[in-house]
Amino acid sequence: MSVEQPRMVTLATSDHRAVTLPEPSWCLGHALHDPETQYADIIHSSSDITLTFRHTALMTACLVQSPNATPGTAGLGGPTPGVSVYPLGETLGPAQLYELAARLDTYADDLRELADQLTRILQHGSSE
Ligand SMILES: [Zn+2]
Repeated sequence: MSVEQPRMVTLATSDHRAVTLPEPSWCLGHALHDPETQYADIIHSSSDITLTFRHTALMTACLVQSPNATPGTAGLGGPTPGVSVYPLGETLGPAQLYELAARLDTYADDLRELADQLTRILQHGSSE
């Protein structure tokens, strides 16, 4: 294991001038940082994982953390890292993410059932 110093990042803010804070290893960086960002609104985010079908993004998810936000409403992010899910519009913890993954498993089964049903309908229709 390496004993590296934590990465740091310095960002301009509209209310606290330039601030330097630890940069999580998973953060993509802040190349598109807006200097008008307020201190509490600084957000670290990872690259997205995207569920795409036929050029349409159905769902995206990425790690997020707003280190300076006051702990607020559950599901809206904050200083504790979470996973932001779009279009759900919520930041989830591990248990909720596993729950979402399980629901997607079930949904995939539902889609296969629908495909089976459609296949039967089409076969029936063509035999009459
Ligand atoms: Zn960051």
